[in-house]
Amino acid sequence: MTDRPQRTSLEALTSAKLLVIAPHMDDEVIGCGGLMLLHKDKRKIHCLYASNGARSPWPLLPWQGNRPKNLTELRKREAEQALTEIGLSRQNMIFLDLPDGGLRRVSAQLRETLANEIDRLEPEFILVPFRYDLHSDHVATQRAVRNLAGRGRIKGTVLEYFVYVRWALVPGGDIRQRIRQDRLTTIDISSVATRKHKALTMYRSQTETIFRWQDSPVLTAESVRQRCEQPERFLLSCATEPLAACFSADRHTILLAHYAQRLGKRRKDQLLALCGGKRRSADRETATPIDGE
Ligand SMILES: [Zn+2]
Repeated sequence: MTDRPQRTSLEALTSAKLLVIAPHMDDEVIGCGGLMLLHKDKRKIHCLYASNGARSPWPLLPWQGNRPKNLTELRKREAEQALTEIGLSRQNMIFLDLPDGGLRRVSAQLRETLANEIDRLEPEFILVPFRYDLHSDHVATQRAVRNLAGRGRIKGTVLEYFVYVRWALVPGGDIRQRIRQDRLTTIDISSVATRKHKALTMYRSQTETIFRWQDSPVLTAESVRQRCEQPERFLLSCATEPLAACFSADRHTILLAHYAQRLGKRRKDQLLALCGGKRRSADRETATPIDGE
């Protein structure tokens, strides 16, 4: 980690040892699926799943439907199918089985386990969710790696990938447009878009409705399409800088929008559901405050 981080080249990323750290099964494909497909030697890629994935999909209100059982095994199987599509073997997948929606509560355990895995695998690049992603598990995962990097426990370069790119309260909507462009590496994934789409749809529990109480899948068809057609972007992380230093301008406004969106969206949808409104299940934009429920 240097004081003056530079962007990373496609050439470097697609030939190096990568560790993709995903809070949930599907984050790795959403954020890094194109990069993994473009990589020249899939044996050099490892995917680590921090949570057990047991809480997605999940009803917005407790009485709307039976709380799902056995989601962990289903989502692990889907992860194996998705990564097989990408070309990774089961040996390159690591499941930590920590509580879905509760990674913040086990932050010390998460941190130590990640440190051990990073020591063992010695990745040149470590990919984690964006520091202000709209899910508490994503933030907890990024903070764990940032903490390790800040204490000199990590040798590899840390890059942040994006799962929640649409922010309702930010003008223009796409949070990636508000980040300093000199810190972003953009990868054109158009040559592998179809394969990324196929890998992502292996996550049937996320891309289809699998319970009667769901009125829409966690990831809608439009959302899947966008995530497979748009370029993938990666933010070069620097543990010695303030978190908000990644934004090009309007930092206070963006932080306020982040706070308001995380606090308000799920509550609003719950209220809608309570009043007989449309939404009945948590989707990708409302999954945030599971922690502590
Ligand atoms: Zn996630």
